[in-house]
Amino acid sequence: MSGETQLLLVDGKQVPAADGRTFTVLDPADGTAITQVALAGPADVDQAVAAARAALTAPEWARMRPAGRGRLLHRIADAIRREGASLARLESQDVGKPLRQAKADVESAARYFEFYAGIADKLGGSTVPLGPGLIDYTLREPIGVSGQIIPFNYPLQNTARGSAPALAAGCTIVLKPSPEAPLTPLEVGRIALECGLPPGVLNVVPGDGETGAALAGHPGIDQVTFTGSVPTGIKVAQAAAANVVPSVTELGGKSPFVVFADADFDLALTAILGWSFSNAGQMCSAGTRLLLQRGAEEFLDRLTEKIAALRVGPGLTDPDIGPLVAARQRDRVLGYLELARQEGAVARVGGGAPSDPALADGYYIEPTVLTGLTNDARCAREEIFGPVVTVIEFDDADEALQVANDSPYGLSSYVWTRDIDKAMRLAEGIRAGQVYVNVTSAGTGIELPFGGYKHSGWGREKGLEALASYTQTKNVCIGFGDRS
Ligand code: NAD
Repeated sequence: MSGETQLLLVDGKQVPAADGRTFTVLDPADGTAITQVALAGPADVDQAVAAARAALTAPEWARMRPAGRGRLLHRIADAIRREGASLARLESQDVGKPLRQAKADVESAARYFEFYAGIADKLGGSTVPLGPGLIDYTLREPIGVSGQIIPFNYPLQNTARGSAPALAAGCTIVLKPSPEAPLTPLEVGRIALECGLPPGVLNVVPGDGETGAALAGHPGIDQVTFTGSVPTGIKVAQAAAANVVPSVTELGGKSPFVVFADADFDLALTAILGWSFSNAGQMCSAGTRLLLQRGAEEFLDRLTEKIAALRVGPGLTDPDIGPLVAARQRDRVLGYLELARQEGAVARVGGGAPSDPALADGYYIEPTVLTGLTNDARCAREEIFGPVVTVIEFDDADEALQVANDSPYGLSSYVWTRDIDKAMRLAEGIRAGQVYVNVTSAGTGIELPFGGYKHSGWGREKGLEALASYTQTKNVCIGFGDRS
């Protein structure tokens, strides 16, 4: 990335913040500055919303045929793949994630655009039979201007996850990335413009909580998609409700990863490395409560060995575990590890910052497995958001189900057993938006609806279900002929 300040993207133009403010983006691998980014304030949000409102009815967008929108989304997908190498490096450096994970995120981002490109010209309504003299049909119209607020952990994927379905539906967007991960969202905005997206259709305004609050409560938006923590999600939903506009809230998790003694341990080990330790555990859906059946201790021994062998290092060197995104995130995780000790936990492996002096300036945490806690410990209930898994033992399927559901969250869940009855019992009983039975992360993705139960939020992103957030139904009823 160049030494120049990265500017906001408003109405198809790269512009500085109205008040000239900027912020520094730090490399989590060593705390050095990567670049400066314009910090959008409320005045910039006003400009971006005005641009998105105008673009919504401008002929070049409003009159574009659905098939044309589909072709445009395909071009964006192709361009993301073409620029994949540089996007992956940028994502890895900005967020700290291992390069191969950043490459996988590039592919997912391209797939989002491709997937929703295919639906742009299939968002039809229906007819309702009312008998002679009446014809009734429904239209799925774009909901309007979508305000999108995303977190730091998957900036590229989250940009694509929200913007691709919104664009397919004919909406326009104001996207506010996290100040800890603004670089690839700005790049996607630029790429979309270069692919022919009309000015103002996708505006990108990196900023902090004040910027997010200005967007969430803006009277000029018609819908809010928020991804982030529970406390912020509540504020965003309240702000949207005050304007009587709908919100989607994709919030945190403390997902159970249930391993029965009869499970295929080889596959389950591969799975837990992916589902729980990717992105240094900074995943809403991470399986951070390992529910282990008594008698399956071999699994824990093998997991401990595998975790101890993981290589921690700068994302660009493609390690197994990169740094966390920011010093505040590392300090938060260190705080939880201290709390875990006070709660009686024992670190089977990991448990703090790595001792390697070469990593001292970065925001690293050793991958950690904690034993000795029960499910009512704070470290088993609260989202730590780092490479930390807490082991809780159970005896049978009833107890596994009870512990799995004993959480304020309900985002994802993972079940490993060869017994179809146990698998089905848990799949039926778990209160969470996602249940994966005997599934490693390979092959699952953007096609599946994704969202939370309980405090993990409401609404669904990904898959065809996401389109419900970006369309609204108009019913048209017409009488004709003799109605005497
Ligand atoms: P966060 O809640 O601190 O911030 C999320 C976004 O909200 C950022 O862009 C931030 O600048 C903005 N923001 C902050 N205060 C705001 C306010 N008052 N009004 C509007 N916007 C505001 O979350 P984070 O630390 O960036 O991300 C971690 C959290 O995100 C975790 O809880 C994680 O589980 C969650 N997450 C959820 C999903 C999902 O799909 N369910 C995906 C990724 C991350």
